[in-house]
Amino acid sequence: MTIVSRFAPSPTGFLHIGGARTALFSWLLARHSGGKFLLRIEDTDRERSTQEAIDAILDAMKWLGLDHDGEITYQSERAERHNEVIDQLVEAGHAYYCDCTKEQVDAMREKARAEGRKPKYDGSCREKNLGPGPDRVVRLKAPIDGATAYDDMVKGPIAVNNEEMDDMILRRSDGTPTYNLAVVVDDHDMGVNHVLRGDDHVNNTPRQILIYKAMNWDVPVFGHVPMILGPDKKKLSKRHGALSVMEYEKMGYLPEAAVNYLARLGWSHGDQEIFSTEEMVKLFDTKNLGNSPSVFDLKKFEWVNAHWIKEADPERLADLILDFLAREDGPEAAENAPRTKLLALIPHLQPRAKSIVEMVPQSRPFLVTADQLEYDEKAATKFINDEARPLLEEIRAKIEADSDFTHDSLEAICKGLVEEKELKFKNLAQPLRVAVTGSTQSPSIYDTMLVLGKDETLARLERAVKL
Ligand code: GLU
Repeated sequence: MTIVSRFAPSPTGFLHIGGARTALFSWLLARHSGGKFLLRIEDTDRERSTQEAIDAILDAMKWLGLDHDGEITYQSERAERHNEVIDQLVEAGHAYYCDCTKEQVDAMREKARAEGRKPKYDGSCREKNLGPGPDRVVRLKAPIDGATAYDDMVKGPIAVNNEEMDDMILRRSDGTPTYNLAVVVDDHDMGVNHVLRGDDHVNNTPRQILIYKAMNWDVPVFGHVPMILGPDKKKLSKRHGALSVMEYEKMGYLPEAAVNYLARLGWSHGDQEIFSTEEMVKLFDTKNLGNSPSVFDLKKFEWVNAHWIKEADPERLADLILDFLAREDGPEAAENAPRTKLLALIPHLQPRAKSIVEMVPQSRPFLVTADQLEYDEKAATKFINDEARPLLEEIRAKIEADSDFTHDSLEAICKGLVEEKELKFKNLAQPLRVAVTGSTQSPSIYDTMLVLGKDETLARLERAVKL
């Protein structure tokens, strides 16, 4: 059987961590088996669904690389088909019109509760054979005995006594189909045979199975993933960090890091932490989806991101850094930035970088000319003092005379001066670093000067001694 899975977000806001993880698991399930991954936008709540939210979800899925097969299905466009199925169910005797008022239904529920039974609609209209009419809903004629059971991909066997289930409403009195009915019809029509979703839907599943059975349709395989908690074991919320996936893009996370980390929130393969997307596709198995809530840990996410930054192609990192530079300093800053210099610098930043955002200020001094370089005031005051100036002048002269300008030759110059003047290395390196980068932080001083190039290094030293 070709696996057909899907992601079915309600477009009422951005794609959050939990939704993205559900989408990822469904995507992995399909891609692992060479199946299909479909996308359905559940936009029937016209008040709360917005085009902006749809775009935000699509953008986030694109960023994560969760490509879907075929056209997107919009649930709101399918009301006619949903109603057609409801009519079929009524005709076949599996559903019926009900004219009980809200007050009557509330009273039935109250009575059941008072008698210690599960509150539910008492089936008054089941055998009335009512036809359509104002204020009438359509209800499913659910079985009154037996149980509805299925084997959850994540939670294992689940069974609910049919007695506990209401004759649920399929069509509201305003003629609109209900959520459970729409989901079943859409999943069936789309050919979905594997439904993986958040366990906030676990109570809907037996109800949905009743609809499949009434229609004599194949019931898909279901799986429900547990929710994501914050480090304090409370439901993940804004307090624990950003919830929107795209916020992480803005914070300089790489999509492969997000995919890696999201997968580990509930899926495991031994104690391995780092997975490329291809590797996950190869290894994914719903058997390894955990059944207890996972804890969102920003530090770990950052660590995973640092790993993928180390692995990333410098050309790609350069594009990203320039994107962020354009966002922060305006497009000209990125256009005028010397890409070759940035490419030479990136491998020196990769070993320690935690995010792309962090790499931007580290790159900036390398992307401007000596006259544009901004000196950190504190660093300049502290390190470029009367004692340092003659030393920097001497370094400048030696570098100017150094026809090699290599790591070795620069090291020889600096170490020679340290010995000659009986200095501590840092008492030479820090003023030199501040002189050529404007700050106290940069890659090794030799690499820094090599990336800048001889002319730029000399120009900066010349400017620094005049500060
Ligand atoms: N639209 C539902 C939600 O966003 C998902 C429904 C489903 O996956 O069956 O929670």
